[in-house]
Amino acid sequence: MHTCRNCNQSFRTELALELHRDTCKKGQLFCQECGDRFREGDATQDGWHYECPNEDCDGEGLQDDLYHVDDVRTATH
Ligand SMILES: [Zn+2]
Ligand SMILES: [Zn+2]
Repeated sequence: MHTCRNCNQSFRTELALELHRDTCKKGQLFCQECGDRFREGDATQDGWHYECPNEDCDGEGLQDDLYHVDDVRTATH
């Protein structure tokens, strides 16, 4: 079972999870270092300093390595 860590929805296949993650409304932040998505609250403790919640990734900083998914969408169009 593959579970979306953002909204806890479960999927039978990894592909289904991948497809979901593109549209998951709870995956608001995007790390360009590792390409992962996560909730804003997972990336910051104080709402000021942001860093990637993945331990093996050193991406950090809003608008630096981390972006809001909505910003990325508007920027590429
Ligand atoms: Zn989800
Ligand atoms: Zn990352």
